[in-house]
Amino acid sequence: MQRADAPAPVDPKLARKRGEFALIERHFRRPIHDAAVRLGIGDDAAVVAPAAGCEVVLAVDMLVEGRHFLPDTDPELLGHKALAVNLSDMAAMGARPRWALLAGALPSADEAWLAAFTRGLFALADRYEVTLVGGDTTRGPRNLCVTIVGELPTGTAITRAGAHVDDDVYVSGSLGDAMLALAAIEGRVTLPAAEFAALRTRLERPEPRVALGMALRGIASAALDVSDGLTGDLGHILDASGVGAALDVTAIPRSRALARLIDAAFAGGEAAQEDASHELALACLLAGGDDYELCFTAAPTRRADVARAARDADTPVTRIGAITAQRGLRVHDATGAPLRVLPRAFDHFATG
Ligand code: ADP
Ligand code: MG
Repeated sequence: MQRADAPAPVDPKLARKRGEFALIERHFRRPIHDAAVRLGIGDDAAVVAPAAGCEVVLAVDMLVEGRHFLPDTDPELLGHKALAVNLSDMAAMGARPRWALLAGALPSADEAWLAAFTRGLFALADRYEVTLVGGDTTRGPRNLCVTIVGELPTGTAITRAGAHVDDDVYVSGSLGDAMLALAAIEGRVTLPAAEFAALRTRLERPEPRVALGMALRGIASAALDVSDGLTGDLGHILDASGVGAALDVTAIPRSRALARLIDAAFAGGEAAQEDASHELALACLLAGGDDYELCFTAAPTRRADVARAARDADTPVTRIGAITAQRGLRVHDATGAPLRVLPRAFDHFATG
């Protein structure tokens, strides 16, 4: 029943609006510390001032419930990931991420969920001095979409199209951990508890390689972030650059957990190489998604520069092969023999 001292009932459409504005005020609007943000949340659009001599770099990435995350996913981790995947796109271009917009569809105004989500998102934003300058909030099946705006000195973007024949191919960090964690969660493989915890962090809390991407400006000839798996993603560089590549599978950096799985599979000889664990281990390394490492190319004359960039960015990088004039991707083992079957990268629209 309506209480006597309560405000008069309002047009339900207006009430919904009020709720939405209150939500935005409570969860998204914060003091702004970036002088380049002339106008942040609260107007029809944000106004920012890019630095002189810089180009603006834009990317957007969407996380859909049931597709990219499960309904019971920790909202704080989701907040982290929604921004992390976008920061990773900036890293892949060599850009400095600066401003973000958040479009969210939420099934209800769940205050606790939102508070946790923004805690995760803002913790990462603060580390990279990224300011949330706007967004859109609506009711609907849960879907979080972050737009990122970055900048870099004019003409220095590292694209996918710049790889040259004989360039070295590198990856940062290690590959396959996120997929291995997922396999463990799904019960397809069993791992020691401590190892599983570390891998799970890689899956749920990816660290974008922003410092490395920026350090590689003017050094890398092409780059992208590995979100769908090495073979598929490197394939994008090869296609865009009109070249091929030869990789040494033994050189591809892997965590100790994945190394053990691979070694065990190979130790079994021909028979074991046909079995499921061998297939899984190789798929993690070559086609595992969600690692958000950088894969990039650079001329052999730049090896010392690459090493310095890696040191400056405090990020390990490993040389795993070379660009070839012969098109296509070949991966060979320790003996130089080509792998017969390459695990396929993840594709949301793949058929069959
Ligand atoms: P409009 O009516 O112009 O679409 P909105 O009511 O959607 O404006 O949003 C009001 C203000 O709040 C805008 O500045 C918008 O950028 C900001 N905003 C809305 N939702 C979000 C969100 N999820 N995160 C950050 N800012 C938001
Ligand atoms: Mg709007």
